[in-house]
Amino acid sequence: MKLNRIFNFLIRLSLFTLFLELQGSNFSPNFQLSWPTPNPAFAKGMGYSAFLQKTGPDKDFTSGAFGCVRNNGYKFHEGLDLYPVRRDTKGRAQDSIYAAMDGIVSYINNVSANSAYGKYMVLEHHKIKPKLYSLYGHLAEIDPKIKLGTEVKVAQEIGKMGNSASYRIPLNRSHLHFEIGLRLTGNFQKWYNSKRFSTPNRHGNYSGFNLVGLDPLPFYSKYAAKGYKSPFDYIKSLPEEAKIRVKTKKIPDFAKRYPSLCKFSSQGKIWNGWECIFGPYGLPTTLQQTDKCKADVPLIQIVSYDTGLQNRMCRRIVEKKDGTLFPAEQMKIYIELLFGIKVG
Ligand SMILES: [Zn+2]
Repeated sequence: MKLNRIFNFLIRLSLFTLFLELQGSNFSPNFQLSWPTPNPAFAKGMGYSAFLQKTGPDKDFTSGAFGCVRNNGYKFHEGLDLYPVRRDTKGRAQDSIYAAMDGIVSYINNVSANSAYGKYMVLEHHKIKPKLYSLYGHLAEIDPKIKLGTEVKVAQEIGKMGNSASYRIPLNRSHLHFEIGLRLTGNFQKWYNSKRFSTPNRHGNYSGFNLVGLDPLPFYSKYAAKGYKSPFDYIKSLPEEAKIRVKTKKIPDFAKRYPSLCKFSSQGKIWNGWECIFGPYGLPTTLQQTDKCKADVPLIQIVSYDTGLQNRMCRRIVEKKDGTLFPAEQMKIYIELLFGIKVG
């Protein structure tokens, strides 16, 4: 009888310890990540030429990667371009496209001419912390079973690879444009209206402007190597490119959608702005309320930045002129979108 009680106690203790461990590390026990195309090359450790679609016959395969890879390094590419492994006799891509993670269909654009992404779909992975989005562009078709709001399982087929776009992508360069990242605002239309673009915003909150990508390749390779326990841990492990302060008392809806990335001041404590940490290429990784934005400080203060990481030709988030640091155009856009304020 006594032994039985000790045994029961030990079982409960170990379950409780496991519970604490899972809580403490933001562990997503069911987190699964799947490659979005049938090509096994990356999983097998093969090089770029085995899966990335280059932008032209005389270009390097890196042109299909994430980063400053376009226009001699002056233009940013916010995802991966993945080429097909199967074509029909007319040369059309036959690859199925799979959901990268469990999620919900939050946007579908079925009119190719309406976007540089062509026919595209955005999934929001609402069960993980933070709720990442993934985007699948240039599709030939979206699976007819897939509708707005449909729940999809990881590795479920969601469409077919193609070459759809508002511009011409030749058939022999059919590919999937694939992005993973965070969404800046839930009121993109307000920002769009303030900019007086010549064309209307046709994609609600799922315009490319409002989506900030991370490099999918290390996200996949570290997942395969069990290098992180959850997307939250992965994002927190990314290098810090810049830390800035924004003098506003607004609570961005980013903080409500991604509470795991935000730190709020304790009740009753005065705060007068936000300290924001940006990871690679301006991915916001932490927003924290601060009391360091007194009346006499400028709207945006650059606290620190990594000169090495900012030494690139595109998507700089901090600029230095005559020894003074100031926010680059891209950073201004991010802050406007995050906080719904005018930076100018
Ligand atoms: Zn692309």
